[in-house]
Amino acid sequence: MTRSTLTGLSQASTAAKKTDPKKEAIRLTNLWQKYGPNTYPLDLRKLVDGAILTSDFSDKLIIDQRRFDSFEGSLVRTKGARKWTMLLNSHVANGRRRRFTFAHELGHFMCHRDLRDTFEDSEESLNDFHDAIETEANIFASWLLMPANILRTEFQDMPWCTDVLQEIGTRFECSLQASALRHVKLSHRPLAFVVSRDGMILWATKSQSAPFIGRFCFGDELPEGSHALESFKAGGSSAERVPVGTVWNDFQNATESQYFDQSGQGYQYTCIEF
Ligand SMILES: [Zn+2]
Repeated sequence: MTRSTLTGLSQASTAAKKTDPKKEAIRLTNLWQKYGPNTYPLDLRKLVDGAILTSDFSDKLIIDQRRFDSFEGSLVRTKGARKWTMLLNSHVANGRRRRFTFAHELGHFMCHRDLRDTFEDSEESLNDFHDAIETEANIFASWLLMPANILRTEFQDMPWCTDVLQEIGTRFECSLQASALRHVKLSHRPLAFVVSRDGMILWATKSQSAPFIGRFCFGDELPEGSHALESFKAGGSSAERVPVGTVWNDFQNATESQYFDQSGQGYQYTCIEF
């Protein structure tokens, strides 16, 4: 990427506070695809080197990757300067998680650096879809790592299939959760995705055409009669589709597919198809 192609970046980012994280991610995606190598999985280091460090960006960004005990990722401003350091914990064993954290911290840099001087992220905040700032950084990360312009055609009419989502996750070096989330957001089908742990709902999301779901509240137990609850009690299940009637919505029948997180964090994922 050349300096001249990137002059729009700093202008765009002065308005970043009001900018949708999706738009910031799309802006970087455009630079990567038009002027950068346009290869996936996205090389975040190259993106930072090409799109941020060589532009006329007013803020400098340094990446420091080493072992830290207290967090997975952090973004810290040098006091009184327009200089930021992104600290990434190299001790996190899962490479896809390290990548997601990198993209999440870049999201804070692109969208939130006028709001605070320090951001610190643990496994909890990287899975936090309630706090507005953390949600935005997560949205930024998923839009950047798995761009809509590549995946929309693939995802819009695709029925839920854990194996295909796993393959797509591998292609973009993202977790199954990240590709499942992209699928739900880009699908034209009525779909919902629920993340739970210990039988309690942590967060959930739905596609645009899915009906409103009253059983989606944070902290609620998985609904009685759902396959999700049965699987939780049984300690796991296959990814087969199971009809569950109107357990998630009083008016529309649904089927559920289940899978469980393999990283030992205890997350249970449920895809609901109406
Ligand atoms: Zn964060």
